[in-house]
Amino acid sequence: MRIHIDLDQCDGQGLCEAVDSELFRLDDDGYAARSDVDAPEAVRATVEDAVARCPMGAIRLLED
Ligand code: SF4
Repeated sequence: MRIHIDLDQCDGQGLCEAVDSELFRLDDDGYAARSDVDAPEAVRATVEDAVARCPMGAIRLLED
């Protein structure tokens, strides 16, 4: 599966990084740094948590 973050929608509140700082990294200005991240099945619940917490709805979980 893959994590996709719409960088145009991200407003830099950093809640995704608070969920998992390895999967979700922020740039020096506090915005999501990467738009696409491959993620193993084992972290599905964590990604779903981040999807639910992102206040901008910027994070999506995509199936391969
Ligand atoms: S939680 Fe959403 S809005 Fe906040 S930094 Fe992460 S992607 Fe951006």
